[in-house]
Amino acid sequence: MSLYISAPFFFLKPPGAGSGYPIGMPVSTAEPEVLTTSPEAAPEPHAGQPQFESWGRYPRYDAKVIPLNWRSDFPAVLAGAHGSALPVGLGRSYGDVCLLKDGVLLQTTGMNRLIDFNPETGVLTAEAGISLAQILDFAVPRGFFLPVTPGTKYVTLGGAIANDIHGKNHEVAGSFGNHVPCFELVRSPRENPDWFAATVGGMGLTGLITWAQLRLRPIVSRGIDYEGIQYHGIDEFLDLKQRYQDVEYTVSWIDCVSTGKNFARGIFMLGEHSKVPGELKPSPEPKLVFPVDAPGFALNRASVSMFNTVFFHKQGKAHVKTVQDYEPFFYPLDKVLHWNRMYGRNGLVQFQYAIPWEHAKEGTVAILREIARSGLASFLAVLKAFGDVPSLGMMSFPTPGIMLALDFPIKPNLTFPLLQRLGDMTLEFGGRLYSAKDAAMTPRQYQTFYPEWQRFARFRDPMLTSSFWERVADTAGA
Ligand SMILES: Cc1cc2nc3c(=O)[nH]c(=O)nc-3n(C[C@H](O)[C@H](O)[C@H](O)COP(=O)(O)OP(=O)(O)OC[C@H]3O[C@@H](n4cnc5c(N)ncnc54)[C@H](O)[C@@H]3O)c2cc1C
Repeated sequence: MSLYISAPFFFLKPPGAGSGYPIGMPVSTAEPEVLTTSPEAAPEPHAGQPQFESWGRYPRYDAKVIPLNWRSDFPAVLAGAHGSALPVGLGRSYGDVCLLKDGVLLQTTGMNRLIDFNPETGVLTAEAGISLAQILDFAVPRGFFLPVTPGTKYVTLGGAIANDIHGKNHEVAGSFGNHVPCFELVRSPRENPDWFAATVGGMGLTGLITWAQLRLRPIVSRGIDYEGIQYHGIDEFLDLKQRYQDVEYTVSWIDCVSTGKNFARGIFMLGEHSKVPGELKPSPEPKLVFPVDAPGFALNRASVSMFNTVFFHKQGKAHVKTVQDYEPFFYPLDKVLHWNRMYGRNGLVQFQYAIPWEHAKEGTVAILREIARSGLASFLAVLKAFGDVPSLGMMSFPTPGIMLALDFPIKPNLTFPLLQRLGDMTLEFGGRLYSAKDAAMTPRQYQTFYPEWQRFARFRDPMLTSSFWERVADTAGA
């Protein structure tokens, strides 16, 4: 059964019929028209690696990976599957939201065709396995950009919807689902309302998103008018956030290791798409690859502390202004493919919270102190404000307040107890953690962070589950 779902309404339609889908375009078994997209823009997700890994490379589970190339592959594969399955994209989630122990992973990256584009409205229709990198390759030369982008372009359209991802413009644009006029969801059984809300942020559990529309935003140049401003402490961060609340993209790097007078120092970064017309060419392919797993001891308090001091002073002055290409502004980490190998064979976990304004400041200070005390933080840490554009998903993560995200190398006896404490502190301050980045939440934490989880469970396709869901929600057979 397929559902054509458009925000804010959803409606059932037989395949190929009527509105929500470009007239005359083939839908399912027929071959969708390929407009143009370069295959290099979607790197082989896990070339040369035996199993599908999430970005944190923790946990690691055996699963059968079956590529889906056509919409019609989905019912056929499910009919032949023993046990449960889960649709996955490029595995850029950090934890186990894209994993299923001993199950079947339906890899959608072969379903990556562009179907339709309307330059009047900016609305692009594409199969769900297309990567944001491929969309950019198509859109930028035509003077369009993504409405919301995460810190890497190597995620799929389906993955972006299923985690209802957010970007540096959350305060003005809200999260990804707010820019998706319509998509198709194919399920094994049939039923029910509220499918849009359940599927945006629904972690792949409600069915397979086969194609979706996305409203792009116009640009006239690849350039970003950039400003970088040093800050010292949360009060200065909050002042800057207030002062620049009308700027489209705001984010900050924060030092999570230093204490004393350098506690919570950082660099506040602002950007707007340049209004000066410039050449709109696609990006070159990244040339650098992190070649091997780094030894476990490479990241330690001393090396991270040194990096942080160099990074904080890198810009030379307290306030710099320049025009930057969009690549280093949005995707600084994509420059080095497989940078996650820097954390060694054990992998990494990310801790990412959002705490509502009521307790945002005290919660952030308390959590940052706990992190600094642990000495375990890496240098990849981001502090940002979430705005008040409501997310459309029942299980979406963004909520108005402060968001902190940082990576920890996995040191089993130290990292997980710390994550438990930080999760409990987040709970105490009324916040929540981000499922797309998680590998450590307890059922109690998850079920308190996401009080709608039982209502959401009713929308789950009974053939689909994930290791994440089994860990945090399905413990009692939800
Ligand atoms: C360097 C880096 C920076 C990041 N920065 C951000 C950021 O700034 N903001 C942010 O929000 N996130 C960020 N992320 C997380 C990332 O954007 C999300 O985890 C995203 O969902 C990954 O997409 P994917 O295609 O790799 O999907 P996967 O990780 O493979 O899967 C993600 C979820 O989507 C589901 N899914 C995938 N395809 C489909 C489909 N066709 N139908 C139904 N369900 C599907 C899966 O079941 C799973 O639950 C970052 C990740 C990295 C590695």
